[in-house]
Amino acid sequence: MEVLVYPDPVLRRGGKTITRFDAELRQLAERMIEAMYEEGGVGLAAPQVGIEQKLLVLNPSGDRKDRSGELVLCNPKLTRKKGREFGEEGCLSFPGIHADVERWIDITVTYQDLDGKEQVMAANSWLARIVQHELDHLDGVFFVDRLTATEKLRVKPQLQELEGRGA
Ligand SMILES: [Zn+2]
Repeated sequence: MEVLVYPDPVLRRGGKTITRFDAELRQLAERMIEAMYEEGGVGLAAPQVGIEQKLLVLNPSGDRKDRSGELVLCNPKLTRKKGREFGEEGCLSFPGIHADVERWIDITVTYQDLDGKEQVMAANSWLARIVQHELDHLDGVFFVDRLTATEKLRVKPQLQELEGRGA
């Protein structure tokens, strides 16, 4: 399973609502989790592997030996949010780029698990940041879209380098 890299246009398409909670979906989630560990990430959204579904996987430890924090979220929605803070982010689809992004500190997310059962989770700080970053991918939004003008200017040469590589 290959992770798409900016400026692949598929990344902008985001994901569609999942309606079938079957073995195929479970298998897709497992393959995404494997790809996430393989690439050294802490989260991965289906559009990043070319699949237009509202599915994301994450593990704040990013460590395949510590799978206790592993989560699979189908059709996630941000329902409550509080407080703002800046923190550094990177993205498997933007290799080599790290930048400060402002996110909500405390969030509540509703989602469906792999059985289609409604779930609610509360998250803060690092976990909340990962969830918001991955949620953005489901809408075709990138962390570099959310940078301050100064940070945008700083990463511009790196973005252009990625754009050049794709040409
Ligand atoms: Zn990302």
